[in-house]
Amino acid sequence: DPALEAIDLTRRYQLEGVSVEALRGVTLRIDQGEFAAIIGPSGSGKSTLMHLLGCLDRPSSGQLRVNGVEMSGLSDTELAELRNRTIGFVFQSFHLLARTSALENVALPLVYRGMGKAERRERARAALEAVGLAHRLDHRPSQMSGGEQQRVAIARALVGEPTVLLADEPTGNLDTRNGAEVMAMLDRLNSDSGVAIVLVTHEPEIAAHARRQIHVRDGLIELDTSTPSPAPHP
Ligand code: ADP
Ligand code: ADP
Repeated sequence: DPALEAIDLTRRYQLEGVSVEALRGVTLRIDQGEFAAIIGPSGSGKSTLMHLLGCLDRPSSGQLRVNGVEMSGLSDTELAELRNRTIGFVFQSFHLLARTSALENVALPLVYRGMGKAERRERARAALEAVGLAHRLDHRPSQMSGGEQQRVAIARALVGEPTVLLADEPTGNLDTRNGAEVMAMLDRLNSDSGVAIVLVTHEPEIAAHARRQIHVRDGLIELDTSTPSPAPHP
């Protein structure tokens, strides 16, 4: 099954009695292990699409399947369970607990899986090692750079071994150097672990890191292009 399959998704918001159509019929398939960027200007519907793909929100019409499971048939509880098992989230503003060590921040999502403390800590340590932060386990967010904090957030998103990582403007709060470092990290995690990555950005330089660019405008996909893989060495 594809990791994500959206068929003719729409999403309308009611704003002071006026209906805003943020998505107007999006059909999109993300295969297992893909690395895609959703790019478009502010207000084009990127965040709305991301929230639907991540099962944080339900569409006004259309279908969404996650690993072949159609979400419309699920209760809110079942949907939350599907989300927790299959999707990892990374946001622009990190959303780390301030008074909590990197290790504990990363271990937290595993609490909801009923996993014992020793195993949670071991998995969190491995996830931090995978993002190059084995030397920062006991640091709090305030003791780390923005790039390091985002890498902690990436480790937290991946510790439960999701099918898809959804990243909404993951470099938006970072300077160019830290942004490039985070993108290189995502690229490597995608290659090494095979997790599919969908990132949202309004910056073409960031979107260029992905192997596929999905251009959104006025609530529709206007262009969907793939960068050819580099030719194998002779
Ligand atoms: P982007 O992420 O590309 O900036 P959004 O998905 O946030 O775009 O927004 C798409 C459109 O939907 C915009 O016109 C925005 O004002 C509107 N919108 C987004 N969220 C809401 C909401 N909660 N209530 C009303 N309108 C919304
Ligand atoms: P900002 O662009 O202000 O930094 P974020 O990218 O941090 O915003 O968050 C984008 C949206 O995702 C917000 O609507 C926020 O409420 C929501 N959000 C943030 N963290 C989580 C989370 N861990 N789980 C679900 N939704 C979240």
